[in-house]
Formats: sequence, C-alpha cells, structure tokens
Amino acid sequence: MAWREKNMSIATINPTTGETLKTFDPLTDREIETKLALAAEAFEKHRQTTFQQRSQWLNKAADILERDKQKFAQIMTTEMGKPFQAAIAEAEKCAKVCRFYAEKAEEFLADVEITTDASNSYISYQPLGVVLAVMPWNFPFWQVFRFAAPALMAGNVGILKHASNVPQCALAIEEILQQAGFPEGVFQTLLIGADKVEAIIKDDRVKAATLTGSEPAGASLASAAGKQIKKVVLELGGSDPFVVLESADIEAAVETGVSARMLNNGQSCIAAKRFIVAEAIADKFEKLFVEKFEALKLGNPMQEDTDIGPLATEAILSDIEQQVAKAVDNGAKILIGGKALPDSAGNFYQPTILTEIDPDSAIAREEFFGPVAMLFRVKDIDEAIALANNIPFGLGASAWTNVPEERDRLIKDLEAGSVFINGLVKSDPRLPFGGIKRSGFGRELSSQGIHEFVNIKTVWIK
Ligand code: NAP
Repeated sequence: MAWREKNMSIATINPTTGETLKTFDPLTDREIETKLALAAEAFEKHRQTTFQQRSQWLNKAADILERDKQKFAQIMTTEMGKPFQAAIAEAEKCAKVCRFYAEKAEEFLADVEITTDASNSYISYQPLGVVLAVMPWNFPFWQVFRFAAPALMAGNVGILKHASNVPQCALAIEEILQQAGFPEGVFQTLLIGADKVEAIIKDDRVKAATLTGSEPAGASLASAAGKQIKKVVLELGGSDPFVVLESADIEAAVETGVSARMLNNGQSCIAAKRFIVAEAIADKFEKLFVEKFEALKLGNPMQEDTDIGPLATEAILSDIEQQVAKAVDNGAKILIGGKALPDSAGNFYQPTILTEIDPDSAIAREEFFGPVAMLFRVKDIDEAIALANNIPFGLGASAWTNVPEERDRLIKDLEAGSVFINGLVKSDPRLPFGGIKRSGFGRELSSQGIHEFVNIKTVWIK
C-alpha cells in the first residue's frame, strides 16, 4: 500500500457507491491535550476499581453489542463494505470477547506465589496506564474490542486512533463503552490522522501502544515508541500459506480454502493467501477451486446473497490491480477473474486465482489484500514447507493432511504464530493470537494478551 502518499481525510465514504456520506474535522492539538489529560486522570481512578466492577461494565458492553448488532453492522458495512451478515457476526464476536475477559481477567491477573528465600514472594500484575491503540478498518469493531476488553479489565485506560475511513465505527465504540458504565475518560476515541501518532507516543502520560495494520505503519509506531522506551504490541500483515498434501480431504480443503481467502472481501490479515498444493492432487484441487470461485457472488454487501462486497477504499482497489498486473508481467497466469468490475462506482474486484507464479519473485512474497489467491504446485512436504516459509511474514498457517507424521512436521516447521491443521485460521478469545517475523510481535487474546500491558511486579517480603 502506498501509505506514505495516503493523506487520508477522516470521512465515511461508502465503498459500494463511492459516495462521501460524512466528513469529520480532525481534533486540534488543544482538543488532543484535553483528552490526554482526561485519560491520565481517569487512570488514577480506574486502577482502583475492582475486577467485579470492571466485569459488570464489560458485560454491559456485551449486552449493548448484542442488542444493537444490526445498527453497528450497518455502520461497518456502510464504512468499509463487509457483507452485512459478517458485520453482525463481528458485533457478536465482540460481545464474546467482552464476556470472556469479564469472566477470566481476575483469574489471569491473580498473584502468583513463588517459593524463594523470602517469607513471601510473589508476582503481582498491575496496570501500566494510558495505552494508545492504532487500529485498522478491516475488522473495525473486533480489532478494537480485542484490545479494549483485556486492557480495561487490567485497569488500563485506552485511547483509540482508528483508521480514517471508519470514524463512525470509532465513535460508536466509544459510546458503547461509555453507555456500559465505564467512567468518562477510560476509553476515548481520538479522530486524528496518522501524522499525530508520534507526538502522542512521545507524551509522558501515554505508557504503551499497540498497532494493528501494515508493516510501514507498525515500523513507524515501533520506532517512535522505541525512542521513548515504551512497550509496543504489533499485529501486522501476513501472506498465510494454505498447504494441502496428498492425503488431505480435498473437497473440505477447497471449501475451507475459498472461505479462508474470501473472508471480509479478501481483506483479512489471516486470510489464506498462498495455496500450496501437492502435485499429485493439484489438478483436482485447481478444478474445484476455480468452480467455487466462479460460483461466488460479487455485489452489494447489504444483500443477503452477496458473498463478496467491494474493497474498502479506492487505494486498495488500485493496489490490487497493480499487483495482479505485476504478477502477470512476471509470467503468472490468471485462472479466473483478474479485473475490477467495469462501469461500477464502487471498489469491486473479481475473485481471482493466479497460478504459474515464480515463487522467488518479489510479487509472490507480497501480501494481496483483496480477493486474489495464488496457487502453487509442489512435489512433496519438504518443498511445501520451504515455499510456505519463503516470505517475510509469519502470521498464521493452515495445513491439510491425514498423515500424523506430516502433521507433526508441519506444526514444528511452519514459521507462523499459529498453525491450524485441517481447519481455517481464525482468532478465538481463548487462544493467543499474533505473529512472528514481519507479522509483528506480542500476543493478543487469551491469558497472554492481557499480560502484554501490565507491570509484572516482583514482590519479596523478608
Ligand atoms: P495501515 O495503513 O497500516 O492502517 C492501520 C492504522 O494505522 C490506521 O489507523 C492508520 O491510520 C494508521 N497508520 C497508518 N500509517 C501510520 C503511521 N505512519 N504511523 C502511525 N499510524 C499509522 O493499514 P491498512 O493497510 O489500512 O490495513 C491493512 C493491513 O493491516 C494489512 O497489512 C493487514 O494484514 C494488516 N492487519 C493485520 C492484522 C493482525 O492482527 N495481524 C489484523 C488486521 C489487519 P490512517 O487510516 O489515518 O492512515
């Protein structure tokens, strides 16, 4: 993504129609200062609240998400184009992560006794303070709640810089948490551009930061935080492999592979992006894969029978067009798709499969953030693992086999933050989520996620 040139205004632009529905003035420096002061003040009170009190508020947020999921889904689909039913499911998943941490936070953060030469020694987990969250538009509610639920339960307070194309989602989330009862200042949305992030990280009142988004944005935030010696969690891009070996259930692999690639109109960090298939079954896999792509319905995301809506912004559509053109220039063959929808004001791109791609070419190592699958053929498991690992990223990996020895090797040798055998890579509040290599560092969700933004305090009593 040409992120450097992206000087995005803060606005709701419907990607289905291209229409600008609402624009927002970014906060002034003075307004930012007021919000930071409020956050710091709120922290002093919030850190003194009990887990029971925080749980009550977070469960209330879950109630609101469930009650008004249609309303929130409408905002998501209008701002970034995901199918409406998927947006409803996203609101429900946010409720789930709230309930999960409302129930589990106290247990995760309980003191841990350790026997030493002291009469009593233990670990006590304490909140850090104001945490800045810089979030992307692709799961505009989920990404925020998966940060906010553990952070607020731990006693931190959050300030959100959301992506500039989802301001109404950002404001709705702030409102949900306020209506749920969290005191003023515990969670605030800052409508600001990316250019304000560095100054906020430098501010003494901000103790840590997390960013979900692209590599350049992550590197920029991490270097600003590094200069200030502040803790960072990064959830960045991926180009996940989807490995299918000879013994796999091919029909099930194809079915899941299509969903894995097309989730969120192809704009998911953990989407399967590179399909690496054993030569012995590759013809059959390819035929079924193309058939399933042919059957996908591209269209208005508000309609129930639509499988794929528009890409979120014009810039993403243009990136995808350029990437496909580059792949073709390098010798790739298009099996299906390969074009934007002509005569459409929206950002629609056809479901596309590329094959015969040079695995060592630069384009084969890039992330396609849209409905484009790369299909590779390999002779055996060694070649499959080598190709799967031949990228700078390491987010998730899905691998299909029914041979136990192959399964064990894939689990051990695939370079990724998660490996799913015979299944779709997905996030789940109960399991840690995150990547290695250029996909980032740190973990969200589960017990590991809530431990990222706490002071792991050692206590020793004579
Ligand atoms: P992006 O441009 O990096 O934007 C993400 C957020 O970072 C936005 O709020 C954006 O603000 C902000 N931002 C951009 N440049 C920045 C900078 N230099 N300093 C500070 N903040 C900056 O990401 P995207 O391209 O829209 O989103 C897609 C990427 O996110 C993909 O690579 C995808 O794989 C990744 N992603 C990863 C995960 C994960 O969990 N690992 C989940 C979802 C998405 P503006 O909107 O104002 O520019």
